[in-house]
Amino acid sequence: MTETRPTICRYCPAHCGVLATIENGRITKVSGDPDNPLYRGYSCVKGRALPEQHYDPARLLSSMARSEDGGHRPIASGQAMDEIAAKVGALVERHGPRCVAMYVGTNTLPYPAAPGFAHAWLRGVRTPMFFTSNTIDQPGKQIAAALHGAWHGGDQSFEDADTWLMVGLNPVIAKSSGAPCHNPAQRLKEAVSRGMKLIVVDPRRSETARRAHIHLQPRPGEDPTILAGLLHVIIEEGLYDRAFIEENVEGFDAVAEQVKAFTPDYVAARAGVPAEQVLEAARVFAGGKRGGVYCGTGPNFATRGTLSEYLGRVLASLCGRWARPGDKVLRPNVMLPAFTAKAQPYPPYPGWGFGEQLRIRNLADTAAGLPTAALADEILGDGEGRVRALVCMGSSPMMAWPDQSKAFAALQKLELLVTIDPVMSPTARLADYVIAPKLTLETPGMTQSIEMLKYFGPGLGLARPYAQYSPKLVDPPEGSDLLEEWEFFYGLSQRMGIEVQQIMFYGWGQHIESPPQIFPIDMENKPTTDQIFELMTQGARVPFEEVKRHPHGHIFEDIDDVVQPRDPECEIKLDAGEPHMMAELSDVRAENFEASHGDPRYRFRLIPRRADAFVNSSGRTIKKLLGNRPYNPAFMHPEDLQDLGVGGGDVVRISSEHGTILGVVEEDADLRRGVVSMTHGFGGNPTDEADVREIGSNTGMLMSVEAEYDPASGMPRMGAIPVAVEPDSPS
Ligand code: SF4
Repeated sequence: MTETRPTICRYCPAHCGVLATIENGRITKVSGDPDNPLYRGYSCVKGRALPEQHYDPARLLSSMARSEDGGHRPIASGQAMDEIAAKVGALVERHGPRCVAMYVGTNTLPYPAAPGFAHAWLRGVRTPMFFTSNTIDQPGKQIAAALHGAWHGGDQSFEDADTWLMVGLNPVIAKSSGAPCHNPAQRLKEAVSRGMKLIVVDPRRSETARRAHIHLQPRPGEDPTILAGLLHVIIEEGLYDRAFIEENVEGFDAVAEQVKAFTPDYVAARAGVPAEQVLEAARVFAGGKRGGVYCGTGPNFATRGTLSEYLGRVLASLCGRWARPGDKVLRPNVMLPAFTAKAQPYPPYPGWGFGEQLRIRNLADTAAGLPTAALADEILGDGEGRVRALVCMGSSPMMAWPDQSKAFAALQKLELLVTIDPVMSPTARLADYVIAPKLTLETPGMTQSIEMLKYFGPGLGLARPYAQYSPKLVDPPEGSDLLEEWEFFYGLSQRMGIEVQQIMFYGWGQHIESPPQIFPIDMENKPTTDQIFELMTQGARVPFEEVKRHPHGHIFEDIDDVVQPRDPECEIKLDAGEPHMMAELSDVRAENFEASHGDPRYRFRLIPRRADAFVNSSGRTIKKLLGNRPYNPAFMHPEDLQDLGVGGGDVVRISSEHGTILGVVEEDADLRRGVVSMTHGFGGNPTDEADVREIGSNTGMLMSVEAEYDPASGMPRMGAIPVAVEPDSPS
């Protein structure tokens, strides 16, 4: 029997509504859904490869446990949970709860019930050691929101913006923020055609930069310099929004003082962009009436991510680029409880340095979570409180953590490593237990989790009142023994006598929009995923049953909330002159940039790059996605390759102060000269002997978690890395 059914592709945060063809209980095709009102037939290569992901020959069909010979053997999921629960219990008894940590990556988003159950189990263990990929990705977003204050009314809409500034992000490929995630390339094209002036800062003429009215192509790592330069021009020329600042912003004089020295000529000399372009970009941006400022992986990876995100917020605030009274609320809640958006700030709150104190580098909890870059040292460093057991979900630390050598040593030192992984990834190969999960189309899904992304940063999440639910479409492969993520934590909790409670709350950092809802879970009679979804959507603006009535997804146009005026008694202001940020900006200005740019040992800068076929390390075993290039090329400018005496396909050695990797070079004339651009999440473990042309290279080998890092988030330099490049096998 063949049928075609609407569902949600949950491979990436865009969560496109798609169609799945099912033949005799197997998915045979996934394509865009023309009847979906938001995505309108859109899909990408990853979504269309969902059948290959579900029936990947490398997929685990049962959980695995380490065997005595050092390899792995299949284990029944129930027995795995028995053994893991017993081992965690014994470790906690001997060393205290802090010896257990959890690391959660981005591949948890497809499974809305998973984070709540994982966190409930962790609370039951009584350990504070909860880490996520957030603090090795773009932690500056939440920390800057804490320091500057967020805007209660939300962003201005992309749909009617006349200027839009993107710094180091490429939504055409990443599909997560910066432009609406429902077909961002098309949305950008439409916006530019109707006259929106797009300004892009990127060392590469990326797929997004190609559509820009102004493309500043700077030296990598100079995002704070450029943002400060734009602020300089806007303040010097009086292009800011006086009325908005008067009512909503404090700290104007402090930031004006700090950016005084970032003249267009200084920015030009330092960032390597024409001074006229800095002037023009500032005038164009400030000359518009509506728009937004968005920073991405580029600035966040380059050590001063918090400062870049902060300056982006200041720029938006000085130009009044937040939703105004009477504007349509861009992201009204649908599967979340209703709230009243107001044209006023949330007050700033501490960005870091509170909560759990880590044992190294004076790091503590942050508005973006505990610093993940410190976790390897928390495992390696002897003494009281050492982490001895790690549970990973939706992640592969060996591929994602910076400083891969240290990550490798740390994971090997653990007394218990458990990972939930559909394949024997490099992390899984080091694990004591690998829990094999069901995949998306074998589980129900809903869009509530991507609606919540708006609390992680401007421009994230759904920019329309849209919702979709999808039941599971197919059973897992016959004979398999697979768990949903939440089932694993439910099973562990049952075995350890932990009562699971789902706690739902929503808001920016410390500012919760609605009272927390607490739902105890029946620990005797295991609920279904749908029953958990019902609990999670209690109190939602649109009842779960109503969302389910629209299998192709629905835009709830009748939700036409408008932003309400500022409360008359509200005295809260956004902070444009936060002292830590002003001090860091002063440090930037004092740097000897000529010496660092001119260092003859490291003539190149390595920057991150998103690939259309992969989300971080996901998809690395899927042949349809790998094509005939199973590695992550080292893209370089053709003239740089010529100078090095190498050509496309040759192998080069890329060395930083901290490590060396091999890279297969590929020409990219869109890159600024002196830049190497590589996708992260590739390669194997440091002791693997596979050819670089078969698995690529892990850029984490070039990073050090202790040499240079953001003092707030502990995130090390993961981009704009000074590197030397030399031929390994000249042509
Ligand atoms: S953009 Fe993301 S959600 Fe949409 S089809 Fe591609 S992978 Fe799936």
